[in-house]
Amino acid sequence: MTTGYAAVDAKAPLGLFNFERRALLPNDVSIEILYCGVCHSDIHQVRNEWGGSVYPIVPGHEIVGRVTAVGSAVKKYKPGQLAGVGCMVDSCRHCSECEDGLEQFCAHTVFTYNSPDKHTGKVTYGGYSEQIVVDQDFVLRISEKMAAPEKLAAVAPLLCAGITTYSPLRHWNIGKGDVVGIVGLGGLGHMGLKWAHAFGAKTVLFTTSPDKAADAMRMGADEVVISKDAEAMKKNAKRFDFIINTVAVAHDLNPYLTALKRDGVLCMVGVPDSPHPPVDTANLIFQRRSLAGSLIGGIKETQEMLDFAAEHNIVCDIEMIAIQEIENSYQRMLKSDVKYRFVIDMSTLKA
Ligand code: NAP
Ligand code: ZN
Ligand code: ZN
Repeated sequence: MTTGYAAVDAKAPLGLFNFERRALLPNDVSIEILYCGVCHSDIHQVRNEWGGSVYPIVPGHEIVGRVTAVGSAVKKYKPGQLAGVGCMVDSCRHCSECEDGLEQFCAHTVFTYNSPDKHTGKVTYGGYSEQIVVDQDFVLRISEKMAAPEKLAAVAPLLCAGITTYSPLRHWNIGKGDVVGIVGLGGLGHMGLKWAHAFGAKTVLFTTSPDKAADAMRMGADEVVISKDAEAMKKNAKRFDFIINTVAVAHDLNPYLTALKRDGVLCMVGVPDSPHPPVDTANLIFQRRSLAGSLIGGIKETQEMLDFAAEHNIVCDIEMIAIQEIENSYQRMLKSDVKYRFVIDMSTLKA
């Protein structure tokens, strides 16, 4: 029996829930979960804001822990090793997306929670729990350099917030000479700042929270623009090569489009529960700008990102919580009061 935290419907607070993980298949790895990050996607899905939530729902897809057992065919992992699990636990393995290492775009991606488990026919349960069983091909290696508890906890949000901002910056070849904007300083946004800075770009934060400016500069921003200040936004017109927008609610995208240079790209990663107000296509046409989107990142690239983070000593800025504080952390995230990712210390499940 595995203990976790689940919501039983879209309005219920999360609480204790016991369930069975599948018995180890030959390619499976069993992981004791030590820390799990709290993503805004957890809130969207717990509250059924995207539709399709299956209850009880056990959220959590920023998982780090140690391997406790492996199936008979597992070669990549041994008991005792550090391991990570992100947003996906399986895919079809043979479509063109899977062959290109972009399993997140497969028509049959199995997400870490709230997704049909192809082996059991039941729904997957995520990382707000004491252990998880995952096919070895969807388990990530974590350097022993990251093993200290406070460091390991700060690695956990790399598994979603980290890869979701790393992947578009790599895909659009962002680096030295580029001017990059990051919209929103939350879990995704703060990692966007760190990567863009590490890749050598001039990095600017767009925020609704002036009190986050000092932290943003410490994380690698060269400048901070208050997005509610229309004059400040106008001053930034035609300046940016690339902007990542991480905001979790619907808002006007046009001020960010006009902030792009000719041929600039606004890449959306935030997934609000309702559509954004209309985009004025003249803002695209007259400067050949693009409006794009990006979804997490494939397994190969997630490993590359974790290795890059270990090499450059990049981790997330976190606030550790006990699992009993989860509702309060959701409330704070909804008020943009997040610094800059909540991570659950899973030992508190036993408290
Ligand atoms: P988060 O930690 O709550 O951060 C979101 C930030 O957006 C806030 O801290 C705030 O930053 C800003 N914001 C909030 N309300 C705003 C408003 N009304 N107007 C403008 N800015 C506002 O959320 P997260 O975990 O980073 O996730 C962000 C979004 O990305 C969610 O929708 C999530 O589901 C989605 N997501 C997508 C992917 C993907 O693969 N595409 C992966 C993970 C998550 P400031 O205080 O700086 O303004
Ligand atoms: Zn996430
Ligand atoms: Zn596939």
